[in-house]
Amino acid sequence: MAVHPDDAELSCAGTIASHIAAGKKVGIVDFTQGELGTRGTPAIRLAESEAATEILGLHARENLGFRDGFSVNDETHQRMLMEVIRRYQPDIVLANAMDDRHPDHGRAAKLAIDACFYSGLRMVETIDRLLGTPQQAWRPKAVYHYIQDRYLEPDFVFDITPFWSIKDQAVRAFRSQFHDPTSSDPESYLSSPDFLLFVEARARDMGHKIGVTYGEGFTMARPPGVRDLFSLI
Ligand SMILES: [Zn+2]
Repeated sequence: MAVHPDDAELSCAGTIASHIAAGKKVGIVDFTQGELGTRGTPAIRLAESEAATEILGLHARENLGFRDGFSVNDETHQRMLMEVIRRYQPDIVLANAMDDRHPDHGRAAKLAIDACFYSGLRMVETIDRLLGTPQQAWRPKAVYHYIQDRYLEPDFVFDITPFWSIKDQAVRAFRSQFHDPTSSDPESYLSSPDFLLFVEARARDMGHKIGVTYGEGFTMARPPGVRDLFSLI
């Protein structure tokens, strides 16, 4: 889950690519079209998002069309998200950072948590938007928050070393957002040449913490249940 169309690529594309390579099914639901972004347009960002989807090999990608910025975590938005959760029935949800430079991220994190919870309540009824039929309750087993712009101490770091180049390509698919010497769009925080270096530096720093080259950090609200200590090596 991601409030802006490039959030997932920037923060957890390596983790996604790793799980797809391991045979898991992974989809992304973007909440907004990122229409408040300084550069690009919703149509450009949609095309970029489709390119990134191809690069990652995602099994599904949806955009809920929520209003960018000033987003609200209310019943209407929770129900729209619940409809998607119940349709795809994910075991694990990766959501926005709980606290970040962009205020949408923390709000989207809370929306994701609330929708995952209410989705598990049988008495909260929703209708499948495609089939027009009532949906069954479904609660994901875990919600992890990927770390975005502001540094947060990770609760765990995922080794993405073998998938760094896929992540890098998926991020660069959002060409309108990042450094492009030929672009005539106004410069933004994201479009300076330094930003992509920062993305790599963050991945290297996270990787360094666990003794690998590249990593992605996550936080979580409750401790993970472990059945195999060797999986923690
Ligand atoms: Zn964002």
